[in-house]
Amino acid sequence: QVGSQVVDKKVDSVCPFCGVGCLLTYNVKDNVIVSVDGRDGPANHSRLCVKGRFGFDYAASPQRLTVPLIRKAGVSKDPDLLNRLNQRMSEQGTDWSEVFREATWEEALALGAGQLKNLRDQFGPKALAGFGSAKCSNEEAYLFQKLVRTGFGSNNVDHCTRLCHASSVAALLEGVGSGAVSNQVNDVEHSDLIFVIGSNPTANHPVAATWMKNAAQRGAKIVLADPRITDLGQHAWRTLQFKADTDVAMLNALIHVVIEEGLADQDFIAKRANNYEALRENVQGYSPEAMAPICGIPAETLREVARAFAKAKGAMILWGMGVSQHVHGTDNARCLIALVTVTGQIGKPGSGLHPLRGQNNVQGASDAGLIPMMFPNYQRVTNAAAHAWFEDFWSTPLDAQAGYTVVEIMHKILAPENDPHKVRGMYIMGENPAMSDPDLNHARHALASLEHLVVQDIFMTETAWLADVVLPATAWPEKNGTVSNTDRMVQLGKQAIAPPGQAKPDLWIIQQMAQRIGAYASHTPSAPAGDWGRGRPLACGYAGEFDGVAQVYDEMRRTMHTAISGITWERLQRESSVTYPCLSADDPGAPTVFLDHFATEDGRVNLVPADIIPANERPDAQYPFVLITGRQLEHWHTGSMTRRATVLDAIEPMATASMCGGDLAQLGLSTGDVLTIESRRGQVTLHVRRDDGTPQGAVFVPFAYYEAAANLMTNAALDPYGKIPEFKYCAVAIRAGGEL
Ligand code: SF4
Repeated sequence: QVGSQVVDKKVDSVCPFCGVGCLLTYNVKDNVIVSVDGRDGPANHSRLCVKGRFGFDYAASPQRLTVPLIRKAGVSKDPDLLNRLNQRMSEQGTDWSEVFREATWEEALALGAGQLKNLRDQFGPKALAGFGSAKCSNEEAYLFQKLVRTGFGSNNVDHCTRLCHASSVAALLEGVGSGAVSNQVNDVEHSDLIFVIGSNPTANHPVAATWMKNAAQRGAKIVLADPRITDLGQHAWRTLQFKADTDVAMLNALIHVVIEEGLADQDFIAKRANNYEALRENVQGYSPEAMAPICGIPAETLREVARAFAKAKGAMILWGMGVSQHVHGTDNARCLIALVTVTGQIGKPGSGLHPLRGQNNVQGASDAGLIPMMFPNYQRVTNAAAHAWFEDFWSTPLDAQAGYTVVEIMHKILAPENDPHKVRGMYIMGENPAMSDPDLNHARHALASLEHLVVQDIFMTETAWLADVVLPATAWPEKNGTVSNTDRMVQLGKQAIAPPGQAKPDLWIIQQMAQRIGAYASHTPSAPAGDWGRGRPLACGYAGEFDGVAQVYDEMRRTMHTAISGITWERLQRESSVTYPCLSADDPGAPTVFLDHFATEDGRVNLVPADIIPANERPDAQYPFVLITGRQLEHWHTGSMTRRATVLDAIEPMATASMCGGDLAQLGLSTGDVLTIESRRGQVTLHVRRDDGTPQGAVFVPFAYYEAAANLMTNAALDPYGKIPEFKYCAVAIRAGGEL
């Protein structure tokens, strides 16, 4: 019994939304989740935010895909039809007959895989690409990247990590040798100073924000550095509302103060850092007095914050996509690494580096190799030893060249016919690039231009509307699997409900696709689970069975033995959550890493000086405002799940732009009015609300709403290292009015 309701069963799982990874329990009655309780997990201690507690009924949405679909002959893939199709779906339900016809699984798989195979055989391995998903499990991510590498024959596999923390990971791998966090979020309990930059944790990582607020209550100083001041600012000791795009100027000024005022931890630097002299010389030109006019923060405030950071017993930096989604995102993160290094604020409790990972499994999907330049466990595909190891392990010849990234693949689809790397066919599992990519008109045109597109999802997303074959998959509560949260915790979710109609587990679908494409790795002594289930079909977790998922997990674990060899499937069933690195059955895991050495080749941190690089597109007379995009508390990413969650949609039913009162007055607008925002690439019309945390000269637009898709306007310019687009900065014009 839960409250006044008698339930059939209670099933332990993990929240499917953000990277905090709150453990929860589904209360199930008649194969429907009726409520959710927080569970005492190490990341949440029974706390849940509004998404975790009330966002569960998307799984029971009448808009679920329940049968395989094949595009009708001759039906246009015109991206301009997307909004009309979406609108009709939300008003009239799931009649897809204008675009698709229903098919059997056998027919859909034969066509979906068969056409991909034909393209590969005719044009070579580079003609295909795959996007997996950070919303899928580790096992699904692992199997998907294995299919692309062994079946398609290239490394053209990526997922939304390219759009969130790719630049952070590039800087972290270069600097400290590991792309994961050094300290867990609730380690802020031991911090004197918590430096939050480019992040809105009360909306995007709400339970993580509660640990920060608790720390502030016991006396820790929060510094919130962001062009847009959000709710956490109410708890901050200092808010640094720096001018958008000036991160490097501000951060170098802080490092300058630390060194100039003799606050650097010289002992730590001497023992554990490389390239300090180059860093010191570089920041000499970044005094707070010189940087104040650039970043907009008074020199004395910069000095005060730098002193407090250096003198704190423990100071931790947590950051979000305000840092990473710039053409200088890697440089921004390099500065953060330098700041903790020169102050010795890493390798001890309450300190360190924490890129707050966005989606529930973006950490795990990256760990599992769902990225074009790395095999599982961040082993470079260009590393001869790693390449040979995986060729042996999967018993298949593998491409030794890094694949293309998300945005590069969109360009490669539109490459000339004679380009040998032109991408002609794609398999997309659980991602929605027709909403999440930058410069959507370009991305949608690219997706619509594919000769063959297979989409595997739980809803008819904007991307699925452009598909040739749509395969209905299972939602998170309908399957067993593991996910890895922002804290490096591998956590187990158990199946609570049966999938609707003919929807199938993603692992089963990937395996069926692999068999039809011809990814038949042989059964060798070194790869006992690597045969795609030939002769041993994966059971995939129906009715509480773990066999198929456990097999895949175990195979993945063997490719990641330096990280998770001590986290067996049996242990996860007992403990639910185990932190890596964890190397043996009795290893409790390491919440804090780099205690005495970094994960680099020589064990020392590599400092990399950074200089100011301006945004790719600056405001001008024609486009005088800056567009900042991001998420909001109630809605998640492209909105495919949360906008179908009744409570969340009721709280935030429509897209709104946010602007400060001064700008609204200048434009003659008030909260609730309609405005049109236009960039060089596209425009949206939506309502506006007043938000005085948004800086003057800027407008904030969430990217979850198809009716006003913010990414129609964003710029696809890339950071050269992480290949992440500049979502956080482009030039727009704003006018009152427009047609909704
Ligand atoms: Fe889910 Fe994140 Fe909210 Fe926790 S904080 S309940 S993981 S959305």
